[in-house]
Amino acid sequence: MGVAAHRQNRPQMPENWCPFDPGSGRVPDQFDVLIYPNDFAAFRMDAEPFSPETGLYRKTGARGSCDVVIYHPQHSLAPSQMPVEHWRKVVDVWIRRYRELVAVPGIQYIYIFENTGASIGVTMPHPHGQIYSFPFIPPLIERELSAASDYLRDQQECIYCRILRDELASGVRIVAENPDFVAFVPFFARWPGEMQICARRHFGRIPELSDTEAANLAALIKKVRMKYDNLYGFPMPLMMLLRQSPVSGDHPYFHFHIDFYPIQRSATKLKYLAGVESGAGTFLNDTVAEQKAKELRETAPLD
Ligand SMILES: [Zn+2]
Ligand SMILES: [Zn+2]
Repeated sequence: MGVAAHRQNRPQMPENWCPFDPGSGRVPDQFDVLIYPNDFAAFRMDAEPFSPETGLYRKTGARGSCDVVIYHPQHSLAPSQMPVEHWRKVVDVWIRRYRELVAVPGIQYIYIFENTGASIGVTMPHPHGQIYSFPFIPPLIERELSAASDYLRDQQECIYCRILRDELASGVRIVAENPDFVAFVPFFARWPGEMQICARRHFGRIPELSDTEAANLAALIKKVRMKYDNLYGFPMPLMMLLRQSPVSGDHPYFHFHIDFYPIQRSATKLKYLAGVESGAGTFLNDTVAEQKAKELRETAPLD
């Protein structure tokens, strides 16, 4: 758990002024994709280093970083409207920043993600994502790593390679694919229309992407985002989460993928995490993975 009480003072934005707009005085007058340090970060590079204490309530410093990645200079452009070539620039910025953060001592995990949509609590409509660097491996990542590691030990196979092979063989949950990446609704989807983009090749971190793979990743992200936004005819409120290996060590069981958690369960209803989800960790998904995959597959752009 992280306490970031100073974040309560985050400002309400004055109307019609956006710090991420060229000309705001806060960002350069011209840019394509921009890394912008978060003024109200949960982690800071000048914080005390992470050093676990003993006792019931362990407190440590929060050394790390929280960057905003401003995807595009245009304020009201939805991420799905950005051209593929522009998504490619975002992927390149992710890789560049990843390489910089890996060099910082004490950083154990680099988490690239995006929250989009007012109903998800995003006050800033300008297209942007975030990069957090953690002085520890976050618990859900830790759990996924350990499950994947157990699977490799017991089955002598990467669980993601196995899932991908089975998904491609049956095809019923596939939404879109290209030569390097496949998008599908996982059998174990917890969110209505949850999708995963999985790399066809087995590797763990984005700096390992080849040029062609980076271009194909950009193309499939664009396609998935368009499908989401076309599904109900408005930008889908969602989380987009890049899953990578920790920055150091060998993790042969891990396989790069991106999770998309849309929170809209119909055109007019949101999915809330209520008692069963928040208190028991059991997701009740009111949609069937195969049906949702079909809907998304048949939503423009088609393959
Ligand atoms: Zn803006
Ligand atoms: Zn694999």
